[in-house]
Amino acid sequence: MSSYHQDTLLTLLGRENTRENYGFGSVSAPVFRTSTVLFENYEAFEQAMDGRYKGITYGRYGTPATHALEAALATLDGAHGAALTSGGMSAISMALTAFLQAGDHLLMVDTVYDPARNFCNGELARYGIETTYYDPLAGADIESLIKENTRVIYMEAPGSLTFEMQDIDAIVRVAKKRGIITMIDNTWATPLFFKPLAHGVDISIQSATKYIGGHSDLLVGIISFSQACEAPIRRTLKYYGVGVTPDDAFLVARGLRTLGVRLRHHEQAAMKVAGWLKGRAEVDRVLHPAFPDDPNYSLWKHYMDGASGLFAFKPAVNPSREAVARMVDGMKLFKLGFSWGGFESLVVPFYPARVRSVIAHEKDEILIRLHIGLEDVGDLLADLEAGLRRLAA
Ligand SMILES: *Cc1c(COP(=O)(O)O)cnc(C)c1O
Repeated sequence: MSSYHQDTLLTLLGRENTRENYGFGSVSAPVFRTSTVLFENYEAFEQAMDGRYKGITYGRYGTPATHALEAALATLDGAHGAALTSGGMSAISMALTAFLQAGDHLLMVDTVYDPARNFCNGELARYGIETTYYDPLAGADIESLIKENTRVIYMEAPGSLTFEMQDIDAIVRVAKKRGIITMIDNTWATPLFFKPLAHGVDISIQSATKYIGGHSDLLVGIISFSQACEAPIRRTLKYYGVGVTPDDAFLVARGLRTLGVRLRHHEQAAMKVAGWLKGRAEVDRVLHPAFPDDPNYSLWKHYMDGASGLFAFKPAVNPSREAVARMVDGMKLFKLGFSWGGFESLVVPFYPARVRSVIAHEKDEILIRLHIGLEDVGDLLADLEAGLRRLAA
């Protein structure tokens, strides 16, 4: 299977032998909505009780749709296995919980997805787990931050909102030497543009809510793991009762079929829009690692096979709150909302200083993040041009 090119894989994964497996030749694996699974006899029930039963035992532990999707994602990620969670955020919190305990220390990248920072500071701290934030460009220097009790090094590349890359190999080398688990949030690149496990990262985390789902109509998270990491992850998910509905798994699998064509469109459209923004007087700088003049370009080029449709820009003059409101309230296509990776374009202004503790930003600095959807690029540029005029007025 994995000898096929990725675009072919995307059409095949998770739909093996539907006639043999489900008695029906539907193109996709079917959805079985169930909590209870009826056992054929007492012996089968006994096998289920002590973990020897081969089939589906209870809805929370997975159904054909979730198992098919997990197998598909594991193959795509080149991972030993994959587990689904109720969203990218729970994939992050469950992966961290699986490997950390009271008295442990976590090295967390400063550019992490902001709600994950809140989880570390609010929740992990409550359980006696200490977090140190590090510069995404630390590379091998991360070794100086390692303590006796450091158990996990967490990466995200490029980082949320500000798009700093990381030298993943350098960090993995140090972690392996010191026996530390590495994790990365790979939501921006998806496994099509970057495969963390091929670089020795132990765990890859994704929000399938974004590009894999692709239609802003579901919340699913993915944890892909090496063989050595399987048991702690499966155990933690079981203890916390984390599961995904067959309907959501089905929708994620459907998103997989078009991920390749969508992602390439997002990439090209975003490069056009970002390139256009670079030439505008209202723009100071574009934060997008796939441009040769971006400080993150060489690392991006080294690690990634492509760029997705999410980036940010810094206005030439730091705008007032009123100017930002004028800009976003008047947008016709770029709508104001959280998340990204769907077919629709989005805009989000943010204050980077509020979500960083290592990288310095001016307190009142405002950056603007764009997600470039599948609309016509000319229409998007017209919307943005009018928006920039309102921002600079
Ligand atoms: C959105 C996002 C998440 C959280 O995903 P949900 O599916 O919304 O829970 C995690 N990491 C990154 C980088 C994200 O952008």
